[in-house]
Amino acid sequence: QPIEERLELVRFKVDKRPHIRVHTEACRDCDLTPCVYVCPAGLFEILGGEMHFSYEHCLECGTCYVACERKAIEWDYPRGGWGVSFRAS
Ligand code: SF4
Repeated sequence: QPIEERLELVRFKVDKRPHIRVHTEACRDCDLTPCVYVCPAGLFEILGGEMHFSYEHCLECGTCYVACERKAIEWDYPRGGWGVSFRAS
């Protein structure tokens, strides 16, 4: 099932304060860019040689934080009541 369809099973209450910060200066000469491949929501993208990230539809899995060997990702859960909520189909 495509991720787009699966994402229909989640709801986001987007906090204005990002719960993830990416220090993109550390990404500039990164060849592996594991975050681009591991994020199930596809929130990391390289555009014009620069890393772009949007936190709004984060599934809060923590994979990017674990995968980044450069420790470029500052990760926390959103504040209580914010972020993703999963519901059964
Ligand atoms: Fe993507 Fe998971 Fe990282 Fe959120 S925590 S940005 S869903 S890899």
